[in-house]
Amino acid sequence: MGAVETDKLIGPRATTSLVSRASPLASTARQREVLLRLSQVDFSQKAGTLTPTGIDIFQINVGKLCNMTCRHCHVDAGPDRTEEMMSRETVDLCLAALDKTAAKTVDLTGGAPELNPHFRYLVDACVARGKQVMDRCNLTVLLTGPCRDLPQWFAERGVEIVCSLPHYRKRNTDLQRGDGTFEKSIEALKRLNAAGYGKGDPRLRLTLMHNPVGAFLAGDQKSMQKEWKEGLAANYGVTFDTLVGLNNMPISRFLEWLEISGNLHSYMELLVNAYNPATLAGLMCRNTLSVGWDGRIYDCDFNQMLELDARYPDGRAAHIRDFDPARLGERSIVTARHCFGCTAGAGSSCGGAIA
Ligand code: SF4
Ligand code: SF4
Repeated sequence: MGAVETDKLIGPRATTSLVSRASPLASTARQREVLLRLSQVDFSQKAGTLTPTGIDIFQINVGKLCNMTCRHCHVDAGPDRTEEMMSRETVDLCLAALDKTAAKTVDLTGGAPELNPHFRYLVDACVARGKQVMDRCNLTVLLTGPCRDLPQWFAERGVEIVCSLPHYRKRNTDLQRGDGTFEKSIEALKRLNAAGYGKGDPRLRLTLMHNPVGAFLAGDQKSMQKEWKEGLAANYGVTFDTLVGLNNMPISRFLEWLEISGNLHSYMELLVNAYNPATLAGLMCRNTLSVGWDGRIYDCDFNQMLELDARYPDGRAAHIRDFDPARLGERSIVTARHCFGCTAGAGSSCGGAIA
């Protein structure tokens, strides 16, 4: 069976970055065009104009470098993405901007955020400011040389760990993330457990994030959490606190897979038909700002990956060097067709189901 036929049956698998293959979809303009060409309703027709409620979460994407190259990745991250790395200067601008907000949580993401050379400096600076720091961790990075001490280091600082694990079964996880990923992820989870994570201590929270291995929506979070807790404890002796389910966004490498596998139209139709207005109040773009590695500011991580900048009411693209939270609070959130990924079914945001 050819690779494409296999993909149709079993869903995404590990790949290389769009940039490294000079794929047309490496262009965010091309991704936006592909979504626009689909003959489906516009998001704003359904949802109207979205506006922010405040800045509770200050998200910083410190770069696209990652030790993995998962097929579903909406960042197009990978080991080759060494150029897109937040500098110390931009990290300091982020900290200065953070001080102008009342955000309680700093959400660190990437790529693998731990691979940025200023990562520990940034975590310590946020902890010193009394912020709740959340690290979006791919687990396997914790087994790489310079990161091996991180479970204990995180525990000493009370950093919340939000880990991606597509499935509690080996086959499903390896299909999406690459062979051997599951075993490494389990080993990393054991190390986090040994450092005190995932045992109900509110200071050492361990959250797992699941996303479907294919062109369908995330399942019911509550029943899946029970199943995963039982499965991971019984088979591997691993514990965690919470499971959140995310829909795959039709952008970047998942968009490529949808096109190649012939699932693009049906997946978008699925998202549009499952539109749920009850999700609008809990969308992450309402209470989060997302800063990119180069200091550009976005309404959310997904807009960041499509290079849809957050804009001041006068139309200026927002940047961390001239950060004005009061004016940004008066903006309209930039939406487009990919937003249906957040409002389908029970909804899907960085915190999981939202309705
Ligand atoms: S681990 Fe995360 S950032 Fe890295 S390639 Fe996979 S999905 Fe992308
Ligand atoms: S993609 Fe971003 S802007 Fe669109 S609905 Fe989701 S969180 Fe909001």
